[in-house]
Amino acid sequence: RRAMERNEFSLSYQPKISLLNQQLVGAEALIRWTHPTLGEVPPEHFIALAEENGMILQIGDWVLEQACMQMYEWNKIYQPFGALSVNLAGAQLRQPKLLARIEQLLANYRLAPECLQLEITENFIMSQAEEALAVLYRLKRLGVQLAIDDFGTGYSSLSYLKRLPLDILKIDQSFVRGLPDDTHDGAIVRAIIALGRSMQLTVIAEGVETPEQQQFLADEGCEQIQGYIVSLPLRPEEFSSKFLRTTVSDFSDSTPAKPPL
Ligand code: C2E
Ligand code: MG
Ligand code: MG
Repeated sequence: RRAMERNEFSLSYQPKISLLNQQLVGAEALIRWTHPTLGEVPPEHFIALAEENGMILQIGDWVLEQACMQMYEWNKIYQPFGALSVNLAGAQLRQPKLLARIEQLLANYRLAPECLQLEITENFIMSQAEEALAVLYRLKRLGVQLAIDDFGTGYSSLSYLKRLPLDILKIDQSFVRGLPDDTHDGAIVRAIIALGRSMQLTVIAEGVETPEQQQFLADEGCEQIQGYIVSLPLRPEEFSSKFLRTTVSDFSDSTPAKPPL
């Protein structure tokens, strides 16, 4: 609760790249908590707790606004680079006000809805069934992109998955870790890619760390990757200086445009 008051949260941004042309296709916003004495507290240590005590609503709303504000700032200076992803907790999706809030943020920060991608965990989507379906359809009608996060770790009902208005399927990093040598991980990843593609979803793998993992994913037809092989999550200034290209109108200081990745 104090972390909110003391402004101890911040967002880091991790790039996502296309395996077809190595271009930047978007980024994921990840929360960071810098405690005055404990230092960096990983999200695993406080997100679950915040979900239990309800603080996640306030934190999640702060993340949404901060991410939209950051896009607005980047849009002033840099070329568009794709969608910014924000992780949504289940409790946020259960909030009746969520839709109006997202509409308001898109309007305030002059963002096209497709610039915002919402990552929702497979576990939440599957545990909610019918109610989740209605909310997801409303979000989809707004025009924001929807991704199913940590795919493969929950208990997916494929007949239910078929009815969801999803755009992106994100393969959980626990399956990526064993690639290419672990034959079980290999088989699972291959099957998830085939499933996603046949359902016309964009498939992205998270937690990609080695060239061998990247090669396996490319060979199997995975379209995008995210992971340390491309970059750690970065502070906004570092992300923009490394990955974003200024618009032509902004060359007054004769800074050259960055070459493609
Ligand atoms: P996630 O959404 O699945 O995010 C991916 C996590 O993998 C991030 O951890 C990221 O830093 C880490 N990662 C990225 N590339 C690699 C890699 O190559 N190797 C390895 N080993 N890890 C990699 P992080 O930032 O610690 O976040 C952990 C989880 O906390 C996230 O998992 C997400 O579920 C949750 N989280 C983070 N920010 C938010 C937020 O703003 N709201 C909500 N509700 N949850 C959040
Ligand atoms: Mg995520
Ligand atoms: Mg994950």
